[in-house]
Amino acid sequence: MTKMHLYTAACTGNAKNCRYPNEVAVSSEESLRAAVSKDHVCAKYKNSYRSNDNFLLADCIVMDCDNDHSDDSKDHYNHGEVEQYYLKNTHEPIITRENFEKVQHLIGQRKKERKIQDRTGFYQSNHLFTGKMICLHCGAHLKHVVRSGRKSGLYDAWACPTHIRDKDKCPLKVLEDSKIRAAFTTMMNKLIFARRQVLEPYIKNLENLDTENADKEIAEIDAAYSALLKQQAAIMQLAADGVLDTSTCQKELADLNDKKNDLGSKKTSLTLAVSNNYKYITEAGRLLKYLREHNITKEMDENAFLEFVDEIAVYSRNMIGFRLSCGLELKEELQ
Ligand SMILES: [Zn+2]
Repeated sequence: MTKMHLYTAACTGNAKNCRYPNEVAVSSEESLRAAVSKDHVCAKYKNSYRSNDNFLLADCIVMDCDNDHSDDSKDHYNHGEVEQYYLKNTHEPIITRENFEKVQHLIGQRKKERKIQDRTGFYQSNHLFTGKMICLHCGAHLKHVVRSGRKSGLYDAWACPTHIRDKDKCPLKVLEDSKIRAAFTTMMNKLIFARRQVLEPYIKNLENLDTENADKEIAEIDAAYSALLKQQAAIMQLAADGVLDTSTCQKELADLNDKKNDLGSKKTSLTLAVSNNYKYITEAGRLLKYLREHNITKEMDENAFLEFVDEIAVYSRNMIGFRLSCGLELKEELQ
């Protein structure tokens, strides 16, 4: 078998993952099977981060077949019935693998010579939260910035681009990178400590979820929501007719809004639990396995973050919520 290279992620089934740090030289069926059991790409990317701009080189071609018409592997195409080909040197490479390795070696040597600190950690930390933090004031993704403090000197931070452009459009101030990391570690430690109280009952609930009953509940929520809308219209009419004074009217409307928001979030979580039931159970199971196998720690486990966190909801500069791939959102205060 001709040698080719794949690049694997630390996770499986995570559509949002962009990091593929492990280079695997595939030379046999076994090594190919091992490599493709993880999420993988067939090209080498700068900083191991998949994007069009980061493309460096590739030495294999994938025959893609979409199997998204069914989750049942029996219905999937191509169990070897379609031939697959490895075509070598059909395209002029931008850079050959040999030259690429040589250049990497040279870069490494020069770094050592000049005693330049390896910045890998810096880039990784930049990418870790990129595209994952959402400002709940304006919906924008936070971006990495460097700030300087009087005592601390330069430090990594995350800022809402809307706030940077116009403070009146979004009130969110910068969040310190190190605090987000500490909050993640605290959350994981709490989960390790309280997995029996938090995660195990959650999985049981998911497993016992009665979808028919949930559909009924959703219909009830919809009915209650329409009733609130009617009440809202009635209150506004009374205010317009002068029967209700403005402050009572505002209080009533604020009350109704709270109730509407409550119903809205109930409906969202119920709908998600129904539609993602299988995914959530699988993901929660993976998380539980991780929690069982790990002890409380002070160091952030970046791989665990990539594996288990879909996004971070940013409520304020002091409050964030980790939205986990298993459907839970766990809030943490930034200390
Ligand atoms: Zn914002």
